[in-house]
Amino acid sequence: MHLKYHFAVGLIIGIPIYYYTNNLWNFLLFFAGTFLIDSDHYLLGAWVTKDLNIFTSYKYWMHVTEVLENGGSYPYVNFIFHSIETFTVAIVAGAYFNNYFLAFGMFVHYIMDIAYMLNTYGQFFGLKRWSLFQRYWDHGRMWKASPRNRKSKKGRHTSKGR
Ligand SMILES: [Zn+2]
Repeated sequence: MHLKYHFAVGLIIGIPIYYYTNNLWNFLLFFAGTFLIDSDHYLLGAWVTKDLNIFTSYKYWMHVTEVLENGGSYPYVNFIFHSIETFTVAIVAGAYFNNYFLAFGMFVHYIMDIAYMLNTYGQFFGLKRWSLFQRYWDHGRMWKASPRNRKSKKGRHTSKGR
């Protein structure tokens, strides 16, 4: 899912939230949930390219997206904010602070990502792909074979378009 759509929906739903609850925190948390959680792509892109420049990371993911949308594949990777575990933490924190707008925003973001994946690839790759422990579930180990290159590889393990 391209960033601009998350940005737009963060505002389209977030502004009425601010309007009706009259609480800026509610807006900021919701917006962070819908838009800022894609910052995990920056973190991973910076890690893979070994370049902290945000534009390098952005170009990297645009390239990966292009490869995927043209039918290529890419070794799947862990997106730290796109996971059942992080979402659970957001819900628990929501219960603690009695404010679920961050978790709500993340939920909206995930729905958008899943809709995009269903629309583009015809599947959303299962809940396992949404776990930080996916590598362990698949291979019995966590930290092996991080993608080090930009070339797409044939293989059934792919992470697409998140
Ligand atoms: Zn996303």
